[in-house]
Amino acid sequence: MMGKTHISVGIAAALFVSQPASSAACLATVLAGALGSITPDIDVHNSRSRDALIARLIVVGLAIVSFGIDRALGAQLWAYISQIQLSQQAIGLLGFFGLCAIGRFTPHRSFTHSVLALVLFSLALGLVLPMAIPAFAAGYASHLLLDLLNKMPMNLLFPLESGWCLHLCHADGLTNKVLMVAGLVGDIVLLTLCIEKFI
Ligand SMILES: [Zn+2]
Repeated sequence: MMGKTHISVGIAAALFVSQPASSAACLATVLAGALGSITPDIDVHNSRSRDALIARLIVVGLAIVSFGIDRALGAQLWAYISQIQLSQQAIGLLGFFGLCAIGRFTPHRSFTHSVLALVLFSLALGLVLPMAIPAFAAGYASHLLLDLLNKMPMNLLFPLESGWCLHLCHADGLTNKVLMVAGLVGDIVLLTLCIEKFI
């Protein structure tokens, strides 16, 4: 699927799994879900690299807006992040970017589109922001599930050499658009339900 679809569905999956009950947790969930939803496509090198780049810019924009809201509302997300031991966060960031580097050198839909990568990336992010693990993992898993619908095999059990796909649709066809809209509706409904808990 395309980047915007992964982001909209990934955020909905993260909100559904995490059920955040505070403004800080809500911001962390949206951000982690969006990040998890685009991380597998760090291995994109071909004609879809522009779509992947736009998706990364959207997530950077989301991060800027989220931390702006955090500051404006005093949501305490940044305060929570600052409390975590710096050495632990440094190891997590090193691990995360190290995994991204491995992803860049592996074929599309191999390592980064596997259950192994989902676990490793989630553990690395968990060292930086422990409360974001379920949201990140949900966003990541939603990417793998959506890509499974496509016509290009995916190496879900990497390093085992077996590729799967359900051959149901093209990555950029009508199904992609329908899923993106469904994800956006889910985002709005779930965000509203979450916000109602703490206002
Ligand atoms: Zn993908």
